[in-house]
This record gives sequence, C-alpha cells and structure tokens, in this order.
Amino acid sequence: MIAIYPGSFDPITFGHLDVIARAAQMFARVIVAVAINHQKQPLFTVEQRIAQIQAAVAHLANVEVDSFTGLTVSYTRQKQAKVLIRGLRAVSDFELELQMAHTNKTLAEEIETIFLTTAKEYSFLSSSVVKEIARYGAPCEHLVPSGVAIALRDYFHRN
Ligand code: ADP
Repeated sequence: MIAIYPGSFDPITFGHLDVIARAAQMFARVIVAVAINHQKQPLFTVEQRIAQIQAAVAHLANVEVDSFTGLTVSYTRQKQAKVLIRGLRAVSDFELELQMAHTNKTLAEEIETIFLTTAKEYSFLSSSVVKEIARYGAPCEHLVPSGVAIALRDYFHRN
C-alpha cells in the first residue's frame, strides 16, 4: 500500500521525520509530497525543501520525495495511493485536520486520512517555531537535520 505524506515542510523538522519513519514501517511505499501553495510565502524554495527531505530520509529505502500543485486528493489518485498521512501534535491541530480530512472524503471517498500522533519530545515542534528560533541566531540542531540547520543559519545571516 502506498501512503502520501503531504505538507509544506518549510523546513522539515525532527517531528516530521518521526512521522515519516513510523509511516515507513506501516506502508510499502511512502511519498513525502511538498505542496506548492502560491498563497504561502515559503522561506525555502520547493527544490531546496525536496533536497533537504531527500537527505534526511536517505536511510529509508521505501520513502521517496516529490512535489505537487493542486488538490492533495487529485495528486493522491494520480499516484494510485489510498492513504494520506497527517501528524497530530496538540488539540489545536485537530480542528483544521478534521475539517481537511472530511473535505477530502467528500472529494475522494476511497482515500483514507490516517493520523499519527507526534512523538512526545516533538509535540511542541513546528517549522514556524524553528524559523523563529533561527531568526534570532539560537541553535536549532536539536530540532532539524544538520543540513537544514546550516541552511537556516545561512538564510538569516544573509537576510
Ligand atoms: P501544512 O502546511 O500542510 O500543515 P506542515 O509541514 O506544517 O504542512 O505539516 C505537515 C504535517 O506534519 C501536518 O499534518 C502536521 O500536523 C504534521 N506535523 C508538523 N510538525 C509535526 C510534529 N512536530 N510532530 C508530528 N507531526 C507534525
């Protein structure tokens, strides 16, 4: 069975990676799919995010990385996948995630959304928190892969 893990991943964090590693044990193939959303102003380009994720999942043989535009369910169908993976951190994630899962169900009855709860140590972690920390020059090696930490330092050094 193929599972799609869609998201912005701007940038990928250890929280995302924990979800990916666990999904990789449950499904034959996991596709981490970077959503190209023209309404969001990402810090890293899609190409940078894909490269960062690829480096971080290189040890997981059944995980691949891709990007997509448009509806997540359309992309999921195109990949002939039946499962969408999302991560749940706190109650605050729940409302929006439930709304998205229900909406996707109305668009594609055959696709199931499966939620993986975050690992306790990463329950506070989000891409936004990491960017906020990096903006003020604090270390973030304990939150993101080392390549991402370096890229964040470079970015905020220049900007
Ligand atoms: P989106 O813009 O689609 O929310 P994100 O990259 O922020 O993209 O998140 C992608 C998915 O990963 C979401 O389901 C989100 O809840 C989940 N996620 C984000 N951070 C964590 C974390 N620390 N632990 C577990 N899941 C997480």
